[in-house]
Amino acid sequence: MTPTTAASRLRLPFFPPDLFEADREHLLRLVRETGTAPAQKFILGERTARFEQALRDRLGAADVVACGSGTSALTLVLAAMDVGPGDEVVVPAFGCAPLAGSVVALGATPVFADIDPWTMVVDPDAVERRITARTKALLPAHMFSVMADMPRLGALARACRLRLVEDSAVAQGGVQGGVPAGLAGEAGVYSFVQVKTFGTAGEGGAVVTRDVGLGRTVRMLRNHGQDGVHRFLHHRIGWNSRFDEVLAAFQLHRLPGLPERLERRARIAERYTERFTDLADRGVLAPPPGRDGRCFYVYTLQVERRDALQAHLAERGIGSHVYYPLPLPRQPAFSRYAAPGDAWHAAERAGERILSLPLYPQLSDAQVEYIADAVREFALAG
Ligand SMILES: *Cc1c(COP(=O)(O)O)cnc(C)c1O
Repeated sequence: MTPTTAASRLRLPFFPPDLFEADREHLLRLVRETGTAPAQKFILGERTARFEQALRDRLGAADVVACGSGTSALTLVLAAMDVGPGDEVVVPAFGCAPLAGSVVALGATPVFADIDPWTMVVDPDAVERRITARTKALLPAHMFSVMADMPRLGALARACRLRLVEDSAVAQGGVQGGVPAGLAGEAGVYSFVQVKTFGTAGEGGAVVTRDVGLGRTVRMLRNHGQDGVHRFLHHRIGWNSRFDEVLAAFQLHRLPGLPERLERRARIAERYTERFTDLADRGVLAPPPGRDGRCFYVYTLQVERRDALQAHLAERGIGSHVYYPLPLPRQPAFSRYAAPGDAWHAAERAGERILSLPLYPQLSDAQVEYIADAVREFALAG
């Protein structure tokens, strides 16, 4: 049986089978409206400006710059901070490829810091140990359901005079000690790739910042270094990382429903945690409970017999996902940046044990209980 046939047999796939179903008609209307409007403006037009404004108002940010993807948002921020050859950027050893890739693409060197073994976000003590005279920036990331410890990382960045970029790609809507995800560092990023919490029918991202000057530079860099006033005057070498007008209109349409969808995700995660907390000594470790410093993109367990649980769930029609089986410094693309003798024990261990469960607003309470029952059955039988 191929993986595709296996996946299509799952009654509860890992990602919802009906992305945007309720909004399909509206999306078609927006394609038609944008496509037939006299302006014939398909990128960086009035809809993109309104979308940026809506996010800015909602957050209380100084600027929000919509761009091509979350990955591109990271690149634009690092470039706006003049990160380049000779600079080191401390990134988590465990996480997605753009954390290290964006640094490498600018000619700088990613330095990998180990994670907290329970929450799986970067460990501030490990970050501190990796700071050298060449360190230019810290780039922590919020992971799965837990936000990185931004208060401690902020203090560290201030004490060592480092730039602080917050990879909040999965954490839109999260709040830590009263500070919204994205505004804890000098700049944060969001990703709108379809399966993220504020995903869209395609690709997109945003840079959010309290710093007007940084926002202005990012705005220039997303469109080949132009200032938006003088065409074909290039102040800096930039990128093409522009935002699509149809998707801007679509995101504006979906924005009012976001808090409710996030709340549903949070409640499902809370319910899972309630049902799993007593399984820790049975080889199934749930994330810490609570709402502060949390975000609810995916729900991730750490499991001693991970592959067996994944098979057990699949037999019951439940999809699951192993994010990041290999720590970043073990990836062929990045291993050359791993100093010989370096070790990331918590990242290695997380890679062997993680398993993410379905977490999307469309899940009914009964489906959530069904999934939780299946996990409990496995843990208590083992
Ligand atoms: C998804 C993601 C990104 C990249 O966003 P894209 O829009 O897919 O480029 C970056 N960082 C984290 C933590 C992510 O989860």
